[in-house]
Amino acid sequence: RVGAQRLGFTYGKVPVLADVDVALEPGAVTTLSGPSGSGKSTLLYLLALLLRPASGDVVWDGRPVGRAADGERARLRASLSGFVFQDAMLDPSRTVLDNVLEPALYAGLDRRAAGRRARDLLDELGVGHRADHRPGEVSGGQAQRVALCRALVTDPPVLFCDEPTGNLDRDATEVVWAALGACADRGATVVVATHDLDLVARAGARVVLA
Ligand code: ATP
Ligand code: MG
Repeated sequence: RVGAQRLGFTYGKVPVLADVDVALEPGAVTTLSGPSGSGKSTLLYLLALLLRPASGDVVWDGRPVGRAADGERARLRASLSGFVFQDAMLDPSRTVLDNVLEPALYAGLDRRAAGRRARDLLDELGVGHRADHRPGEVSGGQAQRVALCRALVTDPPVLFCDEPTGNLDRDATEVVWAALGACADRGATVVVATHDLDLVARAGARVVLA
């Protein structure tokens, strides 16, 4: 379980979040919504242990871990979560398939089983035909779906996504949303920062920032 208690954050002297309390439900997709600049990405980064709180804390499975040492937060992130960055953040020197495989191999999964899983995910997200290309050779919307495959390949208990449908048309958006729903259906906690109000309406739970 992932949550925040009286969480606060400032960039320099600019306060972005103050006294935020959230408790995310496993088995559901929770959206973080609100106007541009309201702090959706910042809250997502804090919950994912990519940023350190200025006040309050982030709690994973009952443990306050937002202020843990960098190495400990990195270990927790790698073993329990996946993160889909808004701009994909793929390794440009590796193929799409190798980008998706990387977290699975890092987690010690068998290479052949991981390879099958990676190809299945790429097919499911409609980008299987790009498996052997480099990230520089795929479109922004395709790269976003590859990044989702990369986050899903280890079946993490917690999945964080920052605007995962930002570059996608309606059909591709449906495919991504179905994959997030399937991830929640198998019990994962799925958290999505989005400004797509149709997706917010369909989410199982909502956090709205002002
Ligand atoms: P969007 O919908 O545009 O993605 P958001 O809700 O995700 O917006 P954040 O990116 O969390 O918003 O930003 C929240 C506030 O923090 C904004 O006012 C933004 O200008 C500010 N901010 C974000 N990143 C930084 C940074 N690295 N340094 C300084 N201020 C920042
Ligand atoms: Mg954002």
